[in-house]
This record gives sequence, C-alpha cells and structure tokens, in this order.
Amino acid sequence: MSLLTELDYIPDGFLQAEAGDLHKILQGPTLIHLPGRRPEPLFVSILLHGNEDTGLLAMQSVLAKYANQELPRALSLFIGNVDAARDGLRRLENQPDYNRIWPGADENGSAEHAMMAKIVNIMQERKVFASIDIHNNTGLNPHYACLNRLNHSFFHLALLFSRIVVYFTTPKGVQSEAFAAICPAVTVECGKPGGQSGTEHAANFVEAALHLSAIPAHPVASHDLDLFHTVAVVKVPEAITFSVGGMDSDLSLEENIDHLNFRELEAGTRLGLVATGCPIAIEAKDESGNDVSHHHFEIRNGQLLTRRPVMPAMLTRDARIIRQDCLCYLMERLAWHP
Ligand SMILES: [Zn+2]
Repeated sequence: MSLLTELDYIPDGFLQAEAGDLHKILQGPTLIHLPGRRPEPLFVSILLHGNEDTGLLAMQSVLAKYANQELPRALSLFIGNVDAARDGLRRLENQPDYNRIWPGADENGSAEHAMMAKIVNIMQERKVFASIDIHNNTGLNPHYACLNRLNHSFFHLALLFSRIVVYFTTPKGVQSEAFAAICPAVTVECGKPGGQSGTEHAANFVEAALHLSAIPAHPVASHDLDLFHTVAVVKVPEAITFSVGGMDSDLSLEENIDHLNFRELEAGTRLGLVATGCPIAIEAKDESGNDVSHHHFEIRNGQLLTRRPVMPAMLTRDARIIRQDCLCYLMERLAWHP
C-alpha cells in the first residue's frame, strides 16, 4: 500500500488545523492538487520535518485568501510528516528524515523513498513550474533561501524570499535537490517554528511565486544577493557526551552558541569547553565527506576553538536536533561570476 494520499480538494478543517491535529484530517503524507489560472503548478512542500509548522501556517493563510477566487497558478501542496507533527517532532525514532530521502539520496529502498520518487514523477508529468520547500530551524537565524544549483532562474526565485542565499550540495536526498533536476527549486528557512514574521514572510513569498508568469532567466546583479556556500557539516560524535551551557560533559558548548549564527567569526572563537582526555569533541566533514575537523577546529587549553574565519549557520541549543541532524553548518562567502 502506498504511503501517499492524493487529493484534488482541501479537506474540511485543514485550513484551521494545528500541525499536531492534522493526523485527524489526513491519513498521512498527502499531496493536494488545486487548479489555477496558469496550469503549470507551483509545488510547495511543508512539514517534511514534523515540528516545523511555519509552512502549514503560511499555506493556510494563502489558501484562506483564495478561498473564493481562483489561484493565479495551479498549486500542488505536499504535507509531509503528519505522524511526527502529531508529536511535535522533526521525525519519529523509527522514521527516516523526510528531507533526506528524495531522489539522489545516499540510501534507497524504503517505502518513504519510493513515495518521494513518485511525487517527483507526478510533478514532472504535471510540468511543475517551480518548487518551494518551507522549513524552520531552531537557533537564532535570519530568514534565508537555500539552493542546489548556481543558476540565475534559481537566484531569481530565491531573491523573492531573501537576499541571503546559501548554496549547498550535501546533505543528499533533500527535496530542493530532487526538484532542481526538473524546475527552479529553493528551500526557505523561516526562523523558529510558530513565529509570526516567518509565517507572513513565507506566505508572501508563495503568493509572489504564484503570481509570476515566468521565472526570469537574465542575470542577477551580484550586489543583489549575499551568496554563501556550505563548506562543512559539523556533528558531535555519538560517543561524546555534550551539553549546552552545562559543565560536566565531554563537550560543554557555549550557553548562547546560537547567537553565532550568520556571523563571520574570526579564528580563535570559542565554541565550548572540552573535558581533559577527550580526544575529538567535534567532527567536521566537507561536501565530499572528507574529515576537515582539524582544518576548522582545534582544542587548546581545554577550549574548542575555530582555526580560521568561518560563518556558522543553524547552530542550535536543542540537544535532540544536534543528535538527529547536526550541530551546525559552516559557510563561506561564494564569489560567483556567471
Ligand atoms: Zn527542516
């Protein structure tokens, strides 16, 4: 039996439901196709991570606005991890991460992988116009757009949301990478879940994308965007105990570590304290999977320090997120010339 339910209408109660109550309205992951004046649909995915409700709130607001009028463009809305949303979690322990299992993922074979591949096929057949994946993160981050192609049509789409744009090629299996093969695609990070400003920002962005007659292909002026690329993903090894603001772990991260997000840090910035005898407190891997821990970090006098200028993103104080996903990404400015 397929995990996916496809509908061509908005179910009763959907526009009012909280993320935690969606399981009473939807059977599970659901793809809703709605008509609009221009037939090639905008694809929007929400709740790939069950605790990130800004996408739901934003789409409820957009759909309520168009309740009595035709959408400017057809819309296909994918509501992802309804089960995890019930519990307010990114994913359940027995589930894969719903944003690591799209075509291009390192692994394959689960029912969830098959579902995501099916969705990409469905949207390709419908001649998808563009793709938007709406997320939240847990630390203090500005709102920003992410993309997986250095391409002007992608930049134009991203700039409708934010002038801060992050280019990345890992992790694999993300929604925006899978859709990049068939249309302009971005992921937008809208700050913390439940935030009013993130919801309005995401809703305005989706509405602007719905109103586009075409995505411009002419060059974006380089002064119009702050383009960064991820150079490493940073994790805390399983064997290392850690705390945020605590004292008695192998790794004691700085209390306000998420205040460092999107700040260009000098070499020698302290991220935490490391217990005596603890060999590697942190693990950084570059986009090819090479260990670059010692390139970016050093332990000196029991302190975990940066070794070179770098800008972290998605640093979080949430221990579960650090274990399930990562501590942060490291970024550098990308000088890109078309
Ligand atoms: Zn997310």
